[in-house]
Amino acid sequence: MQFGNPLDADIEYLKGVGPVRAELLKAELGFYKARDLVYDFPARHVDRSSFTKISQVTEEGSYVQIIGQLIHVELLSSGKARRLRGVFRDESGTAEFVWFKNIRTLQQFLQINGTYIAYGRATFFQHKLNIAHPELELLSEEALTNAEQSVRIFPVYRSTEKLNQRGLDGKVRRRIMAQLIEKLQPAHIPEPLPEYLVERMKFFSAYETIRQIHFPDNQEKLLKAEKRLKFEEFFFHQLKILHSQQIRKQVIKGYSFKSIGEHFNGFYKDYLPFELTGAQKRVLKEIRRDLGLGIQMNRLLQGDVGSGKTIVALLCMLMALDNGFQSCLVAPTEILATQHYIGLSELLKDTPITVGYLSGSVKGKARAALLASLASGELHILIGTHAVLEDPVVFHKLGLAITDEQHRFGVAQRARLWKKSLPYPPHILVMTATPIPRTLAMTLYGDLDVSVIDELPPGRQPIQTTYKSEIYRGEVIEFMKKQIAEGRQIYVVYPLIEESEKLDLENLQQGYEKLQVHFPAPDFQIAVVHGRMKAADKDWEMKRFVEGTAQIMVATTVIEVGVNVPNASVMVIENSERFGLSQLHQLRGRVGRGASQSFCILMTNFKLTEDARLRLDTMRRTNNGFEIAEVDLEIRGPGALDGTQQSGIPEFKIANLAKDGRILQYAREVVLSILDKDPELNLPEHRPLKIAVTKDLK
Ligand code: ADP
Ligand code: MG
Repeated sequence: MQFGNPLDADIEYLKGVGPVRAELLKAELGFYKARDLVYDFPARHVDRSSFTKISQVTEEGSYVQIIGQLIHVELLSSGKARRLRGVFRDESGTAEFVWFKNIRTLQQFLQINGTYIAYGRATFFQHKLNIAHPELELLSEEALTNAEQSVRIFPVYRSTEKLNQRGLDGKVRRRIMAQLIEKLQPAHIPEPLPEYLVERMKFFSAYETIRQIHFPDNQEKLLKAEKRLKFEEFFFHQLKILHSQQIRKQVIKGYSFKSIGEHFNGFYKDYLPFELTGAQKRVLKEIRRDLGLGIQMNRLLQGDVGSGKTIVALLCMLMALDNGFQSCLVAPTEILATQHYIGLSELLKDTPITVGYLSGSVKGKARAALLASLASGELHILIGTHAVLEDPVVFHKLGLAITDEQHRFGVAQRARLWKKSLPYPPHILVMTATPIPRTLAMTLYGDLDVSVIDELPPGRQPIQTTYKSEIYRGEVIEFMKKQIAEGRQIYVVYPLIEESEKLDLENLQQGYEKLQVHFPAPDFQIAVVHGRMKAADKDWEMKRFVEGTAQIMVATTVIEVGVNVPNASVMVIENSERFGLSQLHQLRGRVGRGASQSFCILMTNFKLTEDARLRLDTMRRTNNGFEIAEVDLEIRGPGALDGTQQSGIPEFKIANLAKDGRILQYAREVVLSILDKDPELNLPEHRPLKIAVTKDLK
C-alpha cells in the first residue's frame, strides 16, 4: 500500500511544479515531498459569496475582502518617506490602498485596471476606506469565469513575496494543489485516530478531512474538517504530555507525608485567624492527597490576588513539619519575601515552630547562624528570595518547596530546588496569581497538577473601577483628598518600560511634583518607589507607606507583585492605556484588601485605540481575574501573556488556544479516559497512539 503513495513523491514531479518551482518551494517554504504540501493547510479560504461591498464596510479594524479594479497607482514622497498609493473601485465606491514597503516590486507587478481580490484590515481616513498592505490576488478573465462557475470556496495559502514574483502565486499554487488532491485515494491518507473515536465523534475520515480542508464543498464541511484537525492537534499534544506525566509519576518517587499531626491540628484549632473558604479547603485536600502518595508532588496553585494562597502555603508547610520535614517559601522580590516572613512569623508567634529569613542582604554572623540552624534541622521553615536557591544553603531535611508568583522564576531556578533534598526531591508547590486561562494552563502546565482557589474570602467588596481622561484630574484630586481625610491610603502608579525609561521616569517625577502641590507637607507625606532607586532607599520609602506615615505612594509597577497594605483603598493608574490587561488587574489587586470600599481610577489619554478601550472596559466591567485573562488572551494571543514568555507555549498549526478552548477541553477528557483504560497504550486499536507518543514531544 505504502509503495507508490503519491504523498512520498518529490514535489518536483508533481504536475505543474517542475525543477525550477520545486527549488523555490524548497528554499522558501521548506517543502520537499507532496506530503508537505498536503499538510500545509490553507491560511484561510475565500468564499466568493462573501465579498463585502466597499460602501458597506463600516467597522474600523475589521478584516474585509473586496473584489474590484485597481484603477490608479501613484508614488508619493515627502522627504525621505515614500509610499505607494492605490485607488481601488467596485460597483459601490472606491477605497484607498497604501504600501510603505516593497514599493519597487509592487510598481512592477501591479496591473492598472486589473481585477483583484483584496483582503486586509479596514481603517478609515476622512471617512474613506483605507487598507494598508492589502493581500492582493489578480484574477484573470478566465479564472474569474471558471471560479464563478465551479469552485465557490477556494484556499489561500501562506506565501512569500518571492514566490509571488516568480510566478508561483496563489492561483498557480491552487492549481497544483487541486491536481494533487484530486489524485489522492483514501488509502494514501493514514488514519491517525483510533477508528472508534472517528465514529463516535462523527468526524470525517482522515482522507475526507484533507479534501475538505483544501477544497471544501461548502462552509459547513469546511468547519467540520477544521474541527477534526483542531481536535487532532490538541489530542496528540495532550496525549504526549499526559502520557509522559504518567511515566514520570511512576518513576519519580517522593516522600510520603502520612500523618497530619499536632502542628497542623494545633494551628488549625487555636491560631487560624479565620474560617477557610470552601475553595481553600478543597485545594488543601487535593494537596494533602498528593503528599501522601509517595510520589513527588508537582502542583500549580492558582488563585486570584487576595484569594488567600499564603495561608494554604503555611498549612502545607505544617503538614511537612508533622512528618519531620522542613520547608521553604521562595518569593521573587525582597519586599514580598519580607512581607511573607513578617506575616507568617506573626501567625506562628505563639507556637514552637521556627521561621527564618534569608536574602542577599542577610550577611555575616546572622547568615552563618541561620545556615547552621537550617543544616541542623532546628529551623523548620525558611522564607526568602532567590538566595535560598544558592548552593551553600543546605537543609537538614527539605520536604516541601513553595515558590510564590511562580512566573518570576525560570525553569532552571526551580530545578535547583529539586536538588536540595535526598534521596527524593522535595514536593513542589508553585503559586501564581497570574490567572492563566484554563486552556493555557492545560497546555502550559499539562504535566503539572493544577489547583484553583476560585473564591475570595467573605466580606470583600468588589473594587469600583472607572476610567477618566485628563480633564477630570481636578475631580480625581478632590476624591483623593476625601479618601485621605477618611484615613485611607492611595497608590499612584506610572508605567515604566525599558524603551522609554528616561521619559517614563521624568513623567513620574513630574507627577510626583504636581502631587506635592496638591498634597503639601507637612500635612501630607508622599512616598516614592521605582526600580532605579537603591534597595535601601526603596525599603525606607516602602516602610513609610506600609506603616501609614505616608498617605500616598507614587510608584512604578515594582509594587505590582504581592504587596499588602490593607488600609490602601485607592489605586490610580496613570497612562493606563499603556498597560496590558493582566498587569492592570494585578495592580488593582493591591487595593480592596481591607474592609472598606476600594476604588481603581484608570487615567487615560483622550484618544484610545479600540484595543485600549476594550481593556479599560473589561477592567470596569469585572473583577474576575480569569475572565480578564480570557479577554487578554483574545486581544494579545497566547504568546504575549504575562508570565508565559519563557514557558514555551506550543505552536498549533490550525487550532487556536484563544478560541478553541472547548475543543481542547474535550480532547483532554478523551485522552484522560483512554489513558485510564489503557495506560500503556497496548490495545491494538491504540497502536498508532503508542507510536505517536514515543516520538519526541515537539
Ligand atoms: P494572595 O492569594 O493574593 O497571596 P493572601 O494570602 O495575601 O492572598 O491573602 C489576602 C488577605 O486575605 C490576607 O490578609 C489574608 O489574611 C486574608 N485571608 C486569607 N484567607 C482568608 C479567609 N478564608 N477568610 C478571611 N480572610 C482571609
Ligand atoms: Mg500572595
